[in-house]
Amino acid sequence: MTASGDVAVVTGAASGIGAATARLLVGRGWRVVLADVQADPLVELARELGPAALPLRVDVAHEADVAAAADQAVSVFGRLDLMFANAGVFGAYGPIHTADLAAVDATWAIDLRGVFLSMKHAARVMRPRQHGVIVVTTSPAAVAGGVGNHAYSAAKAGVLGLMRSVAGELRPHGIRVNAVMPGPTATPMNADLAVGDVTAMDRTIELLQARTDGKRPIFAEDIAEAVAFLAGPAAEMITAHTLVVDGGFTAIPGDSR
Ligand code: NAD
Repeated sequence: MTASGDVAVVTGAASGIGAATARLLVGRGWRVVLADVQADPLVELARELGPAALPLRVDVAHEADVAAAADQAVSVFGRLDLMFANAGVFGAYGPIHTADLAAVDATWAIDLRGVFLSMKHAARVMRPRQHGVIVVTTSPAAVAGGVGNHAYSAAKAGVLGLMRSVAGELRPHGIRVNAVMPGPTATPMNADLAVGDVTAMDRTIELLQARTDGKRPIFAEDIAEAVAFLAGPAAEMITAHTLVVDGGFTAIPGDSR
């Protein structure tokens, strides 16, 4: 897929899609800066992955943290080949007429500003090499909406706009920019689907399975494979693209996140 030794920053690496992507990349010879606000699971993952992984406490809403992640990739591992701007929260939820503005702003700070900052600092360190790939994580909510998740839907639509705009800007600089759009995936973000027992991942998986072809749910590893493809040379002619990995979910009417 890629030359061994390539370097990535993965945001949201402590859990779900980010953790699965970090594992897959390291398994294929990459070195990865694991960026997340959750320090303990990051350290645990770094211990599992060995010297190819560098855990870094990063709040993607804060520019200095994101800048440090890109700089650490360069100073510790020599360069940055992939920025996977993936950290996200479901965030503010409920009827719009009672929406709490602080909660909405906090959602956008992570889900939109965080992706913007990740792109900005990836571009800063990639442009001198005229090489690199940025992959962002959007959601079917960006295009389908979803009752109550206005803040999340808006942020994920914003991520698509950012992706296409920045892809056009960075194309002449040898930097590709794409999005993955996961369908409902079996990660802790969806644990609340098993109402009454937020830790009941088995029940969550059952509910998620019903949203695809019914054979199995979408796993974080499915999304990781798509990210690795977009990051690799097989995707050299792919930029400004949204790769949907949803087991047919967007073809079935229903809720989205
Ligand atoms: P998850 O909750 O398992 O992981 C999200 C990670 O982001 C967590 O480790 C969390 O600590 C981290 N994070 C949250 N705020 C952060 C911040 N300010 N700075 C740094 N890290 C922060 O969820 P996931 O399902 O793996 O979600 C990954 C991405 O995929 C998100 O952007 C999410 O919106 C998107 N997504 C998920 C689904 C799904 O069904 N799970 C569907 C579509 C899109």
